[in-house]
Amino acid sequence: MEVTGRRDDPALGSVVVAEDALRARVAELGAQISADYAGRTPLLVGVLKGAFVFMSDLARAITLPVEFDFMAVSSYGSATKTSGVVRIVKDLDLDLSDRHVIIVEDIVDSGLTLQYLRRNLLARHPADVEVCALLVRDGLQQDDLDLRYVGFRIPPAFVVGYGLDVAEHYRNLPYICAYEGT
Ligand code: 5GP
Repeated sequence: MEVTGRRDDPALGSVVVAEDALRARVAELGAQISADYAGRTPLLVGVLKGAFVFMSDLARAITLPVEFDFMAVSSYGSATKTSGVVRIVKDLDLDLSDRHVIIVEDIVDSGLTLQYLRRNLLARHPADVEVCALLVRDGLQQDDLDLRYVGFRIPPAFVVGYGLDVAEHYRNLPYICAYEGT
């Protein structure tokens, strides 16, 4: 498939995950979640803003009834390095008691955000909490993170597109590519 969009932007590097690969993998994750949660109504908790594009496609690939909620936590801002500080900027609207929660994340880099979120959500007495991460940084020690669903493992380059930004730009690129700007 031809890659369209802002390919003339010099800050954009090579494509890391193409549009058709995203579509195929999201369909697989949706099918897997549909099978695993048969007979239940999972609550998808999207981590704003990066996960919103992925969550929108993922939810439509799940053939079960699902409910949505969103949280916003502080992240990179306009820099491309983690601060290690996680702060809730927008909390959930729904009660998690006895719910089957699936945290939907755009990318797990150091895992700090996810560790914090999981601990925070587990304290609200859900039936269970699993994680569906579109991207996981290659080499990340995953054992402690317990990532049930993973889309792609990607190399260290900072990436944008499909929800991921630099200073709010590039979220609407339909593919994921390396960012080579400053
Ligand atoms: P962690 O806490 O795992 O180090 O970082 C997770 C968060 O950092 C992600 O939810 C995302 O907001 C941001 N992040 C990490 N790597 C990248 C990247 O390559 N590109 C973008 N745009 N954001 C990233």
